[in-house]
Amino acid sequence: MECIKCKNEMTKAKFLSFGGFQIESETKSIFETPERSNIEVYVCNKCGYVELKATDYKKF
Ligand SMILES: [Zn+2]
Repeated sequence: MECIKCKNEMTKAKFLSFGGFQIESETKSIFETPERSNIEVYVCNKCGYVELKATDYKKF
């Protein structure tokens, strides 16, 4: 992934939290099952910019 700030190639990193981070879609009723996705993090080692990406973004 390319850094949008300085066009440097970004390095994949991980959160220092057990199990990483997940996002969940908002539901309109309690009968709906929310979609979940893990989050990947990329860091630019030139300018320090950090970018987050959902791995299962197509489910949303
Ligand atoms: Zn950068």
